[in-house]
Amino acid sequence: MPHDIRSAWFKTLGQLALILALAVVVGLLVGQVWPIVTVAALGVVAWHYWRLRKVLLRLTARQRLEPAQGRGVWNELDRLLFRGQAEMRTRKRRLLDMLRAYRAAAAALPDAVVVVERNSQRVQWFNKAASSLLGLQYPADIGAPVGDRLQPLPMSHWLAAGRNAEPMLDAASPVDPDLRLNLRLIPYSDQYWLLVARDVSKMLRLEQMRRDFVANVSHELRTPLTVVHGYLDMLEPSEHPDWAPMLAEMQKQSQRMTQLVEDLLTLSRLEAQESLPDENVAMAPMLATLRREAEALSQRRHTIVVQDEAGVDLAGSNKELHSAFSNLVSNAVRYTPVGGTITVRFAREGDGAVLSVRDTGYGIPSSHLPRITERFYRVSTSRSRESGGTGLGLSIVKHVLNLHQARLDIESEVGQGSTFSVHFGPERVEPRLDASLPVLTDQTA
Ligand code: ADP
Repeated sequence: MPHDIRSAWFKTLGQLALILALAVVVGLLVGQVWPIVTVAALGVVAWHYWRLRKVLLRLTARQRLEPAQGRGVWNELDRLLFRGQAEMRTRKRRLLDMLRAYRAAAAALPDAVVVVERNSQRVQWFNKAASSLLGLQYPADIGAPVGDRLQPLPMSHWLAAGRNAEPMLDAASPVDPDLRLNLRLIPYSDQYWLLVARDVSKMLRLEQMRRDFVANVSHELRTPLTVVHGYLDMLEPSEHPDWAPMLAEMQKQSQRMTQLVEDLLTLSRLEAQESLPDENVAMAPMLATLRREAEALSQRRHTIVVQDEAGVDLAGSNKELHSAFSNLVSNAVRYTPVGGTITVRFAREGDGAVLSVRDTGYGIPSSHLPRITERFYRVSTSRSRESGGTGLGLSIVKHVLNLHQARLDIESEVGQGSTFSVHFGPERVEPRLDASLPVLTDQTA
């Protein structure tokens, strides 16, 4: 017990004892001990009731009452209650200030923020940007079903996915279809979800400008390059023996530039496409073409193995899938020293299928793997240039595979070789049309 309270307690007990002792003395003097003691005791009880009433009044009072000044247990209790109340008020004020600051911050965010009640899917709160980006009106839309209010956005379908809802990356705003939004659902508690919408119109416009610029530059470069290339082809090195090495280098470089422009145009075309034709991709002829291309590039410097074990075909774009596979095969040949082996294998994988290109080449250090499919990303610039690479091959592969909902896996060990595997889902697998074709295994060049 703290010292203050103990002394107050003793003081009150002392007063009680004193009053009772005085009552006894007065009682003895007047010869009426018990009535006087009873009156004194009743007085003490009445006084305590009066103090108790004061404490209760303080607890229920709306306005602030100053604490009692004297000593004794009731005054001590009064002071403790006063202190407790003051602390509680300060804490409440601080919490309210904090809440207001958070609300002001959320309200001032340039992104639209909507708090949605999870079970009823109704709007609980939203900030200013939600009015301009999503068209929500205050106060009419508080409590409104979010799916109805944000039509034509496919909200109900999206909200049903809950925690697994993928962000909507490029959705038209319900206010203005030219306003492009990036929508995310953040389930931040069991009861509430946060819907965040960001205006990405400017970013998408810039991205479109970048794409158009690259496509236009590539297109404009194509014609002068064809002319230069054509004239270079016409020059006969035998007529100018001194120029022969220079002519050869010029031809090599103009070819590289032409390939670069072609790859850039391919990438621009792929980026502009949302889907590709859904053709039957006959894998037996595809593998035969890949083998021919690998052999032509290798010039008998490598062993080429093709294993066709799947017995199925694929659904997708013949042209683009050929371009992706052929990029992987050409990389395998270019980054494998003489004497190495390139194995192209097409096999089933569960209900899906996998095409893998394995080489016994230089390999790729694991630190480079996360960025290897970026444009112009090279592990070794000199080796890539030497081998005639543009730095765009794997970028093209990635884009083609995205358009086929396929996944690229890369396993590699430096000095041992690499395996690039393309995994196709069951929806991309089709029965082989000409089942009479033999299944080819281990065809070695
Ligand atoms: P490049 O035209 O330079 O080959 P890519 O986009 O096709 O461009 O490949 C990017 C880089 O990845 C290459 O520069 C090379 O360093 C590395 N790479 C790709 N395939 C292989 C492979 N099979 N073995 C080793 N390195 C590879």
